Amino acid sequence: MGRIDRIAEPWGSRTPYGPGETWPTRVDSYLADGLTEDDVDRWVQSATILHSNGDALDIAVKDERIVGVRGREVDRVNHGRLGPKDLFGWQANHSPDRLTKPLIRRKGKLVETDWDTAMDAVAGRAKELLEEQGPSAISFYTTGQLFLEEYYTLGLIAHGGIGTNHVDGNTRLCTATAAAALKETFACDGQPGSYTDIDHADVIALYGHNMAETQTVLWTRVLDRLAGPNPPKVICVDPRETPVARAATVHLAPRPGTNVMLMNALIHEIIENGWIDREYVEAHTVGFAELEKQMKGYTPELAAEVCDVPAEQIREAARILGQAERLLSTVLQGFYQAHQASAAAVSVNNINVIRGMLGKPGCGILQMNGQPTAENTREAGADGDLPAFRNWENDEHIADLARVWNIDPMQIPHYSPPTHIMQQLRYMEEGSIRFLYVTATNPAVSLPELRRIREILAQDRLFLVVQDIFLSETAQLADVVLPAATWGEKTGTFTNVDRTVHISDKAVEPPGEAKADLDILIDFAHRMGLEDKDGAPLVKWSDAEGAFEGWKECSRGRPCDYTGMSYDKLRGGSGIQWPCNDEHPDGTERIYEDGRFWAHPDYCESYGRDMITGAPVEETEYKAMNPTGRAVLKAAEYIGPHELPSQQYPFQLMTGRTLYHFHTRTKTGRAPQLNAAAPEVWVEMAAGDAADRGFTEGDLLRITTPRGRVEARLRVSGIRPGALFLPFHYGYWDTEDGSQPKKKRDGRAANELTLTDWDPVSKQPIFKTAAAAVERISKAKGQVSAAPTTTGSAPVTGSVPPTTGGDAALAEELVTTGDRR
Ligand code: SF4
Repeated sequence: MGRIDRIAEPWGSRTPYGPGETWPTRVDSYLADGLTEDDVDRWVQSATILHSNGDALDIAVKDERIVGVRGREVDRVNHGRLGPKDLFGWQANHSPDRLTKPLIRRKGKLVETDWDTAMDAVAGRAKELLEEQGPSAISFYTTGQLFLEEYYTLGLIAHGGIGTNHVDGNTRLCTATAAAALKETFACDGQPGSYTDIDHADVIALYGHNMAETQTVLWTRVLDRLAGPNPPKVICVDPRETPVARAATVHLAPRPGTNVMLMNALIHEIIENGWIDREYVEAHTVGFAELEKQMKGYTPELAAEVCDVPAEQIREAARILGQAERLLSTVLQGFYQAHQASAAAVSVNNINVIRGMLGKPGCGILQMNGQPTAENTREAGADGDLPAFRNWENDEHIADLARVWNIDPMQIPHYSPPTHIMQQLRYMEEGSIRFLYVTATNPAVSLPELRRIREILAQDRLFLVVQDIFLSETAQLADVVLPAATWGEKTGTFTNVDRTVHISDKAVEPPGEAKADLDILIDFAHRMGLEDKDGAPLVKWSDAEGAFEGWKECSRGRPCDYTGMSYDKLRGGSGIQWPCNDEHPDGTERIYEDGRFWAHPDYCESYGRDMITGAPVEETEYKAMNPTGRAVLKAAEYIGPHELPSQQYPFQLMTGRTLYHFHTRTKTGRAPQLNAAAPEVWVEMAAGDAADRGFTEGDLLRITTPRGRVEARLRVSGIRPGALFLPFHYGYWDTEDGSQPKKKRDGRAANELTLTDWDPVSKQPIFKTAAAAVERISKAKGQVSAAPTTTGSAPVTGSVPPTTGGDAALAEELVTTGDRR
C-alpha cells in the first residue's frame, strides 16, 4: 500500500507486464477528510463519469454522504485503477451551488418555483407549438453523460411521441465521427476492438488521440506494457508534444488540417510495399481496387510538403504499421474535429482492414468516445439516430421499431437523417425551431462561435429548457431550469468505448428537490399526454430498471444486443461487453472475429455517405456495391482546410483539453485538487514562434480570430510551429461576468474564436483550424501561466514550478498482483 500525489503523478506507479499476460491489478482509492475504510458505512457499485474509459469503482458512503471512491479490482476495464478525475471529481456533487429547486423566468429574471409550475410551463409551451407548427418546432439537445435508460426514454419521447427529427447530443462535438467512421467502413456503429488488445498488440497507433490525458487509466495500461518485456511500438500523430508523443517510437506532427494527406501517404506506402493481407481483403472487403488507384499519387514526398513532416518519418511509420503483427489503432479529436474528419478516421479503419488486423487479440480499432455514456447516446437514439442501430432508410427497420413502441410507423420521422445541432441552430436562427430542451450540456461554452450561439439561445421567440445540476452559462439563458440528480444520486447503466456495460447504483439522495433525469423525462411525457396506438402511455416504465428492460427488447437481435444482461447480472462482478444474448451470455470481447460484419443491406445501420459531400448513399447503390455485407474500403482525396492562415491571422488555432478537466469544468472546476491543477486558461505556442516575437512564458496575450478575442497567459510548449492551442474548458460561471464576457472585455472561452463549419459526413464541428492572430497585452513580470507541467502543456523553456497536488491529492495504491516498479 502506498500513498501517491495523483495530481503530480496522474498515472500512478508502474506494474509492468509482457505481451499476452494479464494486466496486474492495482487498487486505487481516495477517501476525504482523513477517513479510512473502517469509517465507511457502505460501498455502492458504480463506474466513472468524467471520461469515456468506464473505470469501475465503488462509491464510499458515510452518514448518507459520498466520502470517496475505490477502484473495482474485479473489473475487466481498469483492474482497480482510477485516474485523477475519478479520484477527486465526485466532490463536485457536494457543491453548495447545486441546483436544488426548479427556476422559471419571470420579468426577465430566473426565480425559484415548484415542479408543477415548471413542468406545466415546459409541457404547455411544447403542446402549444405542436399545435401551431407541428413537431418540427421542437428540438432536443442532450449529452454523453446521462444514463442509457434516460437516452432511450428521451429518444422514445422525441421520435416516437413528438415525432421530431431535431434530436442531437453533444456527442456531435465529441464522437460523431467515431460513429460515422464505423458506419462508413462496417456499415454499422460498434467498436471492433477491446481494451485487452493493449495486452497483446505489438504496435499501438494513436491518431489525434492524446490517450494519456483523455483516458488516463487506459494509458496506464499502455505505460505498463511499455515498462514490461517486449514492449509494443507506439505511433503518435499529434501536432503537440503530448505524453503520448514523448513515449512514441515515431511521432508525426502534421500541420493542422492535413490528416487526410498524411493518412493517404501511409496507405500508399503500405500498398506499395505489399504489406497487405490479400486473402483477407479478397474474402471480406469491397473497394480495394478503387482504394489502390486513389492512393497512387500520395507519395511520402507530397505528404511531407503538405503536412510539414519529414518523408522519412512517414516511411518509418508506414513500415511499422505495415509490418505489425498485432496492430491496435485508436482515434480521437485530433482527427474528429477537423474538416475531413470522417475521411481521416475511415483511413485508420482502412489500414487495419487491408492488413487483416481485426477480430484477433491485439488487432483492433477503437474509434474513441470522449464522454462516459456517449456510446449510449448513439445506440439508444438520443443523438438523432434510431435506437439499436436501426437504419432510417430501411422501412422494415422503421416498422420493427414501431412494433416495439406500439405506434404507427409513420409517427417515426424517417424522411431524412436527423437534424444535427449545427443545422438545428440555423433553424433556431431562422425561427422555425421555437423550443429547445437541453439536458446535461452547456452549449453556451462548448459550441463554436459563442457570440452567435448566445444570441440564438437568448432569443425571446425560443423557449429554452435546461435540465442540469448547476446554473451553467446555458442555464443562465433559459426560460425554465430543471434541477437534476447526478451520478451517485440515481441508478442506471452506461457503456464505455469497448462496449463494456456497467451499472451505477444510487448511493445517496440528490440535494433539495433535484430529481433523476429519467423521472423528469417521464413526467414530461405524461404531461404531454404521449400515448401509443392503443391509448396507453407511450413511456411504459416508471423506473430505471423498467427502462432497461424496455431497452433490452428494443435491442433484441440488433448488433448492440443487451438481452442477456440484467441489473442483477451487472451487479457484483465485472462490467459486461455487448452483444450479450443467449448465444453470448457472458458478452463478447471482440466483434468481427470471423470476418463477418453487420453490413448486409437488410441489416446494416447505414448505407454510408459520399466522403466529400456527405450526401447519403442510396439503398440501391449500396446493394449493388456491397450485396453480401463486407467491410467497405473507401477514401477521399485530400482537400485543404477551409480557413487558412493569412498575413492578418498567421496562426492555426486548435482547441482541446487537459488531463485535469472535463468539458466546461462544471464538475472538475468544483473539485479542489483538479481545479488547483489547472485553474485558468492558457495559450500554447512553439518556442521558435515565441522567440520570433519576443514573447516569454507567462506573457499575457490576446488571441484574435475574425469571430472574437480571448485573453490568456502564454505557455511555451512542444506544440508544432505555426500552431496555437487553447484549452476549451474555461467559461464564465466562476467569473464575475456570469454567462459571457462583459461588453468590450476579452473572452476566456476558446469557442469565442472557433468557426461555424463542420465535417460533411459526421457533421462534427471543426475546432482545429481557425486562423488566428496574437498580440501581447502585457509582459509576464515573473508570473507563469496556469498550464499543467505534467501533460501536453509541459513547458519547454524557462523555469516553471511543477504541477503538484500536495497532501490534499494523496491517494492510496494497493498493488495486488504482479510487481510494482
Ligand atoms: S473533452 Fe472532448 S473528447 Fe472528451 S468528452 Fe468532451 S468533447 Fe469528447
